[in-house]
Amino acid sequence: MIIIDGSSGEGGGQILRTSLALSLVTGKSFTIERIRARRKKAGLLNQHLAAVRAAAEIGEAEVTGNSLHSSFLSFEPAEVRPGEYRFDVGTAGSTTLVLQTVLPALALAKGPSQLTLEGGTHNMNAPPFDFLQKAFLPLFERMGPKVEAVLQRPGFYPAGGGRISVHIEPVDALAPLELLERGKIVRRSARAVVSRLPMHIAEREVDTIRRKLSWPTDHLTAEEIDSNGPGNVVTVEVHSEHIVEVFTGFGRIGLPAEKVAGGVAREVKRYLDSGVPVGEHLADQLLLPLAIVGAGSFRTLPLSGHTVTNIATIQRFLDVEIDTSPIGDGVCEVRVRRVRGSE
Ligand code: ATP
Repeated sequence: MIIIDGSSGEGGGQILRTSLALSLVTGKSFTIERIRARRKKAGLLNQHLAAVRAAAEIGEAEVTGNSLHSSFLSFEPAEVRPGEYRFDVGTAGSTTLVLQTVLPALALAKGPSQLTLEGGTHNMNAPPFDFLQKAFLPLFERMGPKVEAVLQRPGFYPAGGGRISVHIEPVDALAPLELLERGKIVRRSARAVVSRLPMHIAEREVDTIRRKLSWPTDHLTAEEIDSNGPGNVVTVEVHSEHIVEVFTGFGRIGLPAEKVAGGVAREVKRYLDSGVPVGEHLADQLLLPLAIVGAGSFRTLPLSGHTVTNIATIQRFLDVEIDTSPIGDGVCEVRVRRVRGSE
């Protein structure tokens, strides 16, 4: 039984989700203590319980401790069962984080799966749907599986009510991935959307992106969409020859539109100036499939706390070496390989 300390490193929900994902893939049981100890509201919240429920159903697992605010969980998986599933995350919890938890196992399962996930689709501190669809999944598909994600209805915090559907065609084994260069930039775009909020917010955001990044106005759009409640999100896409990166800013009460878009523009500029293919969020998320293969590499920005913590969690389940070497100003190269003799 693997024992995980949920307070280590970042001390957030990712330690739990990575443990669930790898427990399903390896069949290894684990217990986790001090869950999310470094968060203001520690323990399991509804969105984490949704990830546990999804993993338990798909892996026919025996679970204890899966109650609201619990700081302890034990998880003993049986067999991964592909098929048709519907998971309701609760009001506005992130649907994409639930998907991340079960995707590796379903991508290696014995048959296809069809998932319907309900809750939030564009949440702060989680992969927004556009990032999932345009940045993460195309890279994951390069490793073999076919994954089609469709946004059926957007859902923002706090109203939720969003829905995504995901079809997964699995493979027997994932293939390695190498992302050392991004190549030439072939397209850049920005889209600001508002739901049940004044349109001028989206227009001011797009204008801020145009000014701060000196981008031409074609490929910049402001749009009104409908969802269960108010929401505002700015999404910037950078398409390069070898990779697509997506950057997101979320509007919130008291934060002027210019600040929301200004933050995204800074993030985009940092990425563009660095020359790396893989941005901060993709880095921590790509590590999981790469570690499952036991081979692959990428260049990215200096590692985030999430990436460092994810490496430590991954190494509790898998015999992999993960080298992280700075290779110049603000660039880090990450190399994953299986520990010799563990094949
Ligand atoms: P909690 O403890 O409340 O569950 P958490 O801190 O564990 O939250 P995180 O650990 O922050 O949740 O993990 C969130 C995941 O979402 C990480 O993989 C991170 O890279 C990803 N993420 C956060 N913001 C973005 C973004 N703007 N675009 C893409 N991915 C994002």
